[in-house]
Amino acid sequence: MKRILPLLVLCLLLTGCMALPATAPAEPMYLALTFDDGPSPQYTPRLLDGLKQRGVHATFFLIGQQVQDYPELVQRIRAEGHQIGNHTYDHAPLDRLSCGEAMADLSRCDGVLQKLAGEGTYWVRPPYGFITEEELAAWSTPMLYWSVDTCDWECRDVQKVFSAICQARDGDVILLHDCYGTSVEAALQAIDCLSEQGVEFVTVEELFALRGQTAEAGHLYRRPE
Ligand SMILES: [Zn+2]
Repeated sequence: MKRILPLLVLCLLLTGCMALPATAPAEPMYLALTFDDGPSPQYTPRLLDGLKQRGVHATFFLIGQQVQDYPELVQRIRAEGHQIGNHTYDHAPLDRLSCGEAMADLSRCDGVLQKLAGEGTYWVRPPYGFITEEELAAWSTPMLYWSVDTCDWECRDVQKVFSAICQARDGDVILLHDCYGTSVEAALQAIDCLSEQGVEFVTVEELFALRGQTAEAGHLYRRPE
């Protein structure tokens, strides 16, 4: 028995080594899903249910007017751990406003967010991506575009939006709108599909933190570098 035992240990070790994968596991891939123009009484609750079931956090760029109309949805978004951002008070293209008017609009939305969603730093996503250099420099929080445009508002097609999400690369910020049922369905299907492949979904703030990057006011980002 004394001679057999070391042999047994050796066999177990060898079997263990052979069971290891031939290559090291791939680095996890991180994506940030962002939803603009909400909260929507029709589709945001369905999206929040789906994200909760899957343990996924997203980022919501809310319109101030909608925030005032549906405060309970805003509080639910906050309570369930998602990031909230400022998408102006009434979705005006900021580049067509004077800098003073644009600041007043962004401040109005920021005010309702501070009141209804709690104190915090609410990053801005300019509607349509339109903003002037002067406005960008004058505002007090980071601003964010996107690096993947699903064109969901245009196609309203679950399969096309799903495919666009699935083509994202590590670190991408994906533009969606939770005011369309097709976008919500496509996002949840993509989460199910990509999660199986090791993709993790995080908020925009988390995505920047994972890259060790601090987003600053006066800058407009597409994604972390
Ligand atoms: Zn918008």
